Amino acid sequence: MALLEEPVKQERTLRNFIAGEWVESTGEAVDVVNPAKMTRIARVPISTKGEVDSAVAAAKDAFAEWRRTTPLARARLLFRLKELMEENFEEISRIQTQEHGKTIDESRGETRRGIENVEVACGIAMLLQGDYSQDVAQGIDEWVVPSPLGVFGIIAPFNFPWMIPLWSAPYAVAAGNCIVIKPSSEVPLSQDYLGQLVEEAGFPPGVWNIVQGGRTVVTALLEHPDIAGITFVGSTPTGRDVVYRKCGETGKRVLAQCGAKNFMTVMPDCDVERTIAAMMTSFFGNAGQRCLAAANCVIAGGSTAFYDRFVERVVAAASTIRIGYGLDESTQMGPLRDPSKKQRVLGYIEQGIQDGARPLLDGRSPNVQGDYPATCFLGPTILEDVDPDSKVGSEEIFGPVMSIMRAKDLSQAIDITNANPFGNGHSIFTSSGATARRFMYDVESGNVGINIGVVAPMAFFPFGGVKDSFFGTLHAQGKDAVRFFTDTKVTIQRWF
Ligand code: NAD
Repeated sequence: MALLEEPVKQERTLRNFIAGEWVESTGEAVDVVNPAKMTRIARVPISTKGEVDSAVAAAKDAFAEWRRTTPLARARLLFRLKELMEENFEEISRIQTQEHGKTIDESRGETRRGIENVEVACGIAMLLQGDYSQDVAQGIDEWVVPSPLGVFGIIAPFNFPWMIPLWSAPYAVAAGNCIVIKPSSEVPLSQDYLGQLVEEAGFPPGVWNIVQGGRTVVTALLEHPDIAGITFVGSTPTGRDVVYRKCGETGKRVLAQCGAKNFMTVMPDCDVERTIAAMMTSFFGNAGQRCLAAANCVIAGGSTAFYDRFVERVVAAASTIRIGYGLDESTQMGPLRDPSKKQRVLGYIEQGIQDGARPLLDGRSPNVQGDYPATCFLGPTILEDVDPDSKVGSEEIFGPVMSIMRAKDLSQAIDITNANPFGNGHSIFTSSGATARRFMYDVESGNVGINIGVVAPMAFFPFGGVKDSFFGTLHAQGKDAVRFFTDTKVTIQRWF
C-alpha cells in the first residue's frame, strides 16, 4: 500500500506556549528523531526553571478570571477544540506516527481516544453541581460546591504523545483550573500541534500552557509553590520515587499512573481464533510499548495437545506481522521509539534465554518492509517456559515480547499473576461465566479484561491501576478526574 505523506516537512526548533504566546526557550535544544528512518524532524528545547516559573505565573494570573467563567462558556471552548481536532484528525495521527513510530491505524486510534476525553469533559457542567441541605439547624442551610484549585502540572510519557495529556487536560480546564503540560522530550510534536489548536480555539491566554523539556521542568513543577497538583504518567521509578514522593513532601494533590506487567490467562475453553487475534494486538500492538500491553501469557489447565496446538497457532500468527514504517498503511508493527529502548528489550530477551526460556519466535533480526535502517526495529518475540520470577517474567520490558508460562489451573494462574508487583491490566480468555467472574474478583488489577486483550476504559470510566502501577487516590478520566481537579468547600448560612 502507498506511503502516506509526512506532515512534518520542515525541521524547526519548538517553542514553549506560555500566556498564549509561542516563546523561544533559552534552554539547549535536542534532536527529535523519526525512529523508522532515523532522521531528525525537529529540535526540542530542554527548558529552564525560569521558563516553568513564567508558565506557572501565567496560569496563576489566568486562573482568577477562568474560574469565574461559567462552566458552559468553558465547555464551549472545548467544543471548538474538539471540532478543530476532528478537522485535523489525519494530520494529528500522522504526526504521532512520524515522531513515535507506531502504525497509522494505532495513531488514528490514539487520536480518537484523545478526542473522546474532550467530548466527555464538554459535559462537565452537571458533574460540577453541588449538594444542598436545608434546615441543618433552625434557619440554617449548608451546601457544598466543587471548586477548582488553581494550577495543575501534567507530565507525560513517550508512548502516547497525543492522548495521555488529554486524560487530564480537558477535565482540569473544564473544572476551572489552568494547566502547564510537560510533554516527553522524545515526542514533543503532538502536544505542540495541540497547543496550536488550543490557540485557534480561542482559550484565554495562560489557561493552557506547554513547557517542553526534561527533568528540570518536572522538578520545577513539583517544587513550585503555586502548583496545586500534578498528574503524571510514566515509569514506576519516576512516578513513585520522584513524583509521588515529592508531592507528598510539598503537599500537592497527585495522581501517578505508572509501569505495568500485564498477564493474560488463557483457559482451554476459550474461543481460540478470537483469543489469538486479541493476543496479536495486545502483545505486539504499539510494538509492546503500551502500559496495557500483555506481557505474560499463562495457559491454565488443558491437555498437552491443546497447549501444543494453541502455542503453534500463536507463533504462526505472530510470524505474519508486517514490520515497517508506520506511514505505510500495510505496516502492522512499527519500530521501538529509540535505539536505547531496543537495546533494553534485547537485553531482556538475551537474559531470558540465559535463564532457561526457549525462543519459539526470535524477533532480533526482523524482516523490515522497505528501505529503512534496522536501528529501532525488532520483530515479535515469543519465549516459552518462562519462570514468572525471572527478570523477563517479572519486570516491565516494554517491547514486543510474549512470555509463555503454564499453570495447572485457574487458581494457580491467579496466584502467579497476583505474585507480580504490578496491577494494571490483567485479562482472561474463557467461555465460562463462572471462571470469568472468579478471575474478576480475585485478580489484583485496576483494569480487568474478560475476552478483551487491551483493557483500556472509555473516557467516561476512571482509569488507573493498583500496586506498583499506581500512586495516588483518584484515577484519571471521567468522574474521578472531575473530583481530582476540584475541591469541596462547605458553606453554612443562617437565614435571618
Ligand atoms: P519515564 O518515567 O521515563 O518518563 C515520564 C516523564 O517523566 C517524562 O516526561 C520524563 O521527561 C520525566 N522524567 C523521567 N525521568 C525523570 C526523573 N528522574 N525526574 C523527573 N522527571 C523525569 O517514562 P517513559 O519511558 O516516558 O514512559 C514509559 C512508562 O510509562 C512505562 O513504564 C509505561 O508502563 C508507563 N505508562 C503508564 C501508563 C499508565 O496508565 N499506567 C500509561 C502509559 C505509560
